[in-house]
Amino acid sequence: MDFQLSDEQQQLRRSVHEFAEREILPNVMKWDEAGEFPMQTVKELGRLGLLGVVFPAEYGGSGMGYVEYVIAIEELSRVDGSVGIIVAAHTSLGSNHIFLAGNEAQKRKYIPKLASGEFIGAWGLTEPGSGSDAGSARMTAVRKKDCWVLNGTKTFCTNGHYADVLVVIAVTDRTAHTHGLSAFIVEKGTQGFRAGKKENKLGLRASDTAELIFEDCCVPTENLLGKEGDGFIDAMRVLDGGRISIAALSLGMAEGAHEAALKYSKQREQFGRAISDFQAIQWKLADMATEIEAARLLTYRAASMKDAGLKTTLESSMAKLYASEVAVRCANEGVQIHGGYGFIKDYPAEKFYRDVKLCTIGEGTSEIQRLVIARQILKD
Ligand SMILES: Cc1cc2nc3c(=O)[nH]c(=O)nc-3n(C[C@H](O)[C@H](O)[C@H](O)COP(=O)(O)OP(=O)(O)OC[C@H]3O[C@@H](n4cnc5c(N)ncnc54)[C@H](O)[C@@H]3O)c2cc1C
Repeated sequence: MDFQLSDEQQQLRRSVHEFAEREILPNVMKWDEAGEFPMQTVKELGRLGLLGVVFPAEYGGSGMGYVEYVIAIEELSRVDGSVGIIVAAHTSLGSNHIFLAGNEAQKRKYIPKLASGEFIGAWGLTEPGSGSDAGSARMTAVRKKDCWVLNGTKTFCTNGHYADVLVVIAVTDRTAHTHGLSAFIVEKGTQGFRAGKKENKLGLRASDTAELIFEDCCVPTENLLGKEGDGFIDAMRVLDGGRISIAALSLGMAEGAHEAALKYSKQREQFGRAISDFQAIQWKLADMATEIEAARLLTYRAASMKDAGLKTTLESSMAKLYASEVAVRCANEGVQIHGGYGFIKDYPAEKFYRDVKLCTIGEGTSEIQRLVIARQILKD
């Protein structure tokens, strides 16, 4: 068992770390307060190869794997979870659905542009009436002579207003339940499609969360992604990878919250000594560090299993569940260690506290992860 990252992986971590400190950190609060999507930074990440980490070089990707992808998401999210979720939704949801289920022509048409950042990707599964119960989607796709006609609404779509290419799931056969759902590639500007309401959020405010509206939207027949009826099954395969990225997002934010608390605890003096001298504070810092390490092991294990071509449904859910709940606890203790200063925007603690909550909700809530885990362990 080898817990060491290779020299190349460590170099990748250093370069993403430096990029995040230099290009993201100075803008974090400005973007957060304005709810501003960091387009220029996202494009730069594309130029650096960080929007196509998991895709092979022959499709314009960086030819690395999920371990490297986790490193990138972790280091970006340590500084700004908004940038982390933008890259995660783009890569392991939108782009990866095309990579996993697409035919050769679809992969050649879209993956190189998504990997380079020329296109931004998004993924729409959730609807107003179907979240955890994603199989009960209502949006329809009806086959006409030379196109599929989409009607319905998706909600909470990350990158929705900025995406050039979206993958959406719709009902093609109402009688077949989850086997009656199919996936479609929709390009921005397609008639009958528009992004609607932009959500005003508690956290991750620089990321975009959009409603998607389809009104007699005709997408070409060649934009059916995967086999008709396989949309839900493929979406679950996509989520096996996506949940690793939410674990990495959680890990990065937990580390950011811990680092900020550690630094502050050494600077802040009360009763004539640094608060880090108090055992109550030390125990919080020690628990945070220990839980972060355990979350890291689960996350990297799931990523390396994925790179080995193994099925990771169980391991991805365990990593996502544990890392997200650890991140929420760390962000909470981070605020507590800062006292009143944890409640104001001059310190990073409050932003981690707001941002991190999404991790126990997106790509399946903690309750749904427990259902997935229980199903997997009970079936053996
Ligand atoms: C910022 C943000 C970004 C997102 N990005 C995307 C995206 O890019 N693409 C996308 O498709 N979706 C996205 N989502 C949607 C997200 O995946 C859903 O919000 C999530 O799956 C939960 O669905 P819901 O909000 O409808 O909650 P509900 O399903 O209504 O759940 C409400 C509560 O009931 C619980 N619950 C539901 N069913 C059960 C059960 N069987 N057993 C026990 N408890 C249960 C849930 O755990 C939760 O606590 C995003 C959401 C947010 C907030």
